[in-house]
Amino acid sequence: SRYFVVTDHPKGVPDEALFELRTDSLPELASGQLKLKNLWLSVDPYMRNRMDGVKTYIDPFELNAPMEGAAIGEVVESSDERFKAGDKVRHMAGWRDHAVVDANHVEPLPSYDVPLQAYLGVLGMPGMTAWTGLNTIAGLTGEDTVLVSAASGAVGSLAVQLAVQKGCTVVGTAGSKEKCQWLESLGVHAVNHHQSAEDIAADIKRAAPQGIDVYFENVGGPMLDAALASMNDFGRIAVCGMISRYNDGEQPGPANIAMMLTKRLRVQGFIVLEHWEGYSDFIKEVGPLVQKGAIEYQESVFEGLEATPKAFLSLFESGAHNGKRLVKLAP
Ligand code: NDP
Repeated sequence: SRYFVVTDHPKGVPDEALFELRTDSLPELASGQLKLKNLWLSVDPYMRNRMDGVKTYIDPFELNAPMEGAAIGEVVESSDERFKAGDKVRHMAGWRDHAVVDANHVEPLPSYDVPLQAYLGVLGMPGMTAWTGLNTIAGLTGEDTVLVSAASGAVGSLAVQLAVQKGCTVVGTAGSKEKCQWLESLGVHAVNHHQSAEDIAADIKRAAPQGIDVYFENVGGPMLDAALASMNDFGRIAVCGMISRYNDGEQPGPANIAMMLTKRLRVQGFIVLEHWEGYSDFIKEVGPLVQKGAIEYQESVFEGLEATPKAFLSLFESGAHNGKRLVKLAP
């Protein structure tokens, strides 16, 4: 099997040379294990935090050990009665082409008529994150005016569409003209975030003069300042991510932080894995919508295992790549 390791803790945006492809033979199958051939790999922003060598809500990647991440694999050999060769499963032994895993650590795929890789994106962890942030964390109602940052991305694009379908006025920020046009086509008031916090806030105000009740935070930095300036009193902020900080932990905090007090905001961070018991409710609601085309989603597909670091690094290039970043492995 071929797998990626990370060889050092990156400073700033990781250099592609920090990732090395290694080869090893797979262990013999023990009872209760599966041999998998990966078909699709997911790369996600949280993986950057795992490269810092520091334990947060999740263990750091061990240097020079096989990396991990969500993947869709096909069972090629099974010593567990619940799975047979040919089954497609979701699991965490990504960043590699083949793996031997414990059958207790894989999930069978739901059976909607959607492309397999949708279970890594709109119907996978990112989609579940959008749904959880809006409903469980922010307590969204149809009366709310909602702001979503990184709104055209894997998480953001489902968040904006669910909010539009609830009847909310929705403002979304993105990093290119093309992304903004796509958002507008979904019924979202789009704002390009490549401008000062004051100018982002002015654009948000033009789009939603009534102010923002719920902010779905994906970005941090000047974007958060613009959001704080746009919030209504007693607004709620679901803190999902702060991607602008992941390569730059030295950033100053938001200048408008005192507005959390003056506007009496409720700000709550969340980690989707701690809400995974809600996945069956999520998939029952959103699976049929995706199947019938009532939810749109975009993908940027990188071809071949070798492209995995590039796919990962593309997450940090604002404006350049659309939607969910995926790696497609040779069939
Ligand atoms: P996206 O598909 O949104 O891809 C990342 C996007 O972030 C880029 O395309 C870019 O969009 C934007 N971006 C990158 N760097 C910057 C920057 N410096 N400043 C502003 N924008 C930037 O990724 P995901 O949907 O997978 O993740 C979105 C957020 O959700 C991330 O912060 C992630 O960490 C978080 N997350 C949190 C989870 C949780 O459990 N709390 C679970 C899953 C994700 P653009 O071109 O529009 O600038």
